[in-house]
Order: sequence, then structure tokens, then C-alpha cells
Amino acid sequence: STHEAPLLEVRNVERRFGALVAVNDVSFTVPAGQVFGIAGPNGSGKSTLFNVMTGIPFGPSGGKVLLEGREIQHLRAHEISRAGIARTFQKDAEFATLSAFENAYAGAVYCAGLSGVQARDEAAKALDDVGLGEERRDKAAGDLTVFERKQLMIASAIAGRPRILLLDEPAAGLTRPEVSALAELIRTVNGRGVTVLLIEHVLPLLLSVSQHLMILNHGSVIASGKPAEVVRDPQVVEAYLGK
Ligand code: ADP
Ligand code: MG
Repeated sequence: STHEAPLLEVRNVERRFGALVAVNDVSFTVPAGQVFGIAGPNGSGKSTLFNVMTGIPFGPSGGKVLLEGREIQHLRAHEISRAGIARTFQKDAEFATLSAFENAYAGAVYCAGLSGVQARDEAAKALDDVGLGEERRDKAAGDLTVFERKQLMIASAIAGRPRILLLDEPAAGLTRPEVSALAELIRTVNGRGVTVLLIEHVLPLLLSVSQHLMILNHGSVIASGKPAEVVRDPQVVEAYLGK
């Protein structure tokens, strides 16, 4: 057969917490090179979906995650990251007392298993890619501005040379001009060949960078398709207005 597996496939994934089904039979595929947007009301299972995909703290309670057709849902977090899936978190996750450079270096070491000169090179390249200038790289991460910390968060994730980057609400706390700068940054990273899954509340950002948009509500996919069409879907409008 000439059929090639998509870069990423999530198949019937489920995560239960006791009686709560936080992620309910979620399926989607992401072709290489895409920016795939994910939205939905608070508590709809978006972060949990990223957690089970990255094995944090463990994989799904049901279903499969396939990377180029290879099952990865049973792998541990560091193995998934070595396989090429990097992520950022909703909460600040940088080491505040380490310098920006050291944070990016830690990303290269942990995510890609690099060391020494190679890790330093990848860290420097990642900081270049996100536009975090030389003069700020020796600053403690905790002393950077809100936007610089976002740049650093993305640099630390891409310093591990991932094929797929999962971003969980990266625009939180940013001003409108900063959101535009973040959109540009996501396009730059994507332009360098990294496939992006983007969870975001800020719809203009999602609409400006995503080629595909999936909406979750109560753990289930209620719409998935072209962003401009999905946001007009009556079920989607109701899920948001109903909050
Ligand atoms: P979102 O990111 O869309 O706001 P989450 O994925 O964080 O939503 O949460 C989905 C649902 O799962 C919520 O009801 C949340 O309270 C619940 N949940 C998330 N993590 C846990 C956990 N570790 N234990 C119990 N319930 C959880
Ligand atoms: Mg969340």
C-alpha cells in the first residue's frame, strides 16, 4: 500500500478521574507541518489531553497515540519527549533562578538527550529562533518580562529539536500586541518544520495561525475542521455562550 501514516494520530483516547470522563473518546490526526488549534471552555479536557499524550503523569486510560504509525501511549514522559514531542505548560515552568540560557540548555539536555557543546549549540539556536537577544540570556529567568518568559518557554521546548510542539495557552497574560508577536513566533517555529498543536482561549490567535481547529466540550470533540467554519458551528457557539 502507498498509504503513509500521518505524523500524529490520536485514536479513541480516554482519561477518567474516578467517575469523571475528562477526555472522552477523542480522535484526530495531524499531518506533518500543520498548526492544529484546540479550543473549548474551561474544564473541557484540553490540558488533560496534552497530559495523556505526553505521559504526564501517565498515558491515556484507553485508546492509542501514534507517532508515524508507531504506538507511543505506553511510553514514559521522557521517552515520548525523546521520540520528538515537546510541550509547554499553562503555569510558568521555568527554573526562575537559572539564567535564560541555562533553561534552554536544560531543555536540550532533557528533551533531546544532548550534552556538552551540542546542547549549548541547540540552546543558543533555540534562543535565536525565538528572538531572545544575547543581552538577556544571562539574566535569571525570573527577572525576564512576561513576554520574554514566553519566548524562553518556547526556546526550552524547541531546544530539544522536537518534531511536534504542544503549546498550552501560551497567550495567557499577554497584551494584544504581544499576542501578535507570539503569533509571529509560532509561525516562525512552524516555518522551521515543527508541527504545532496549540491550545488557546484567545480566538484571534488561533484563527490567525491554525490550519485546523478542534473544539472540545466536556471531554468530547464537538467540532473539527476549517477554523473559520468551526467557530460558526451552532454547537460551538452554544458551548461558549452556555458558560
Ligand atoms: P481544560 O484544560 O480544558 O481547562 P482540564 O484538562 O484541565 O481542562 O480538566 C478537565 C477536567 O478534568 C476538569 O473537570 C478537571 O477538574 C479534571 N481534572 C484534571 N486533572 C485532574 C486530576 N489530576 N484529578 C482529577 N480531576 C482532574
Ligand atoms: Mg487547561
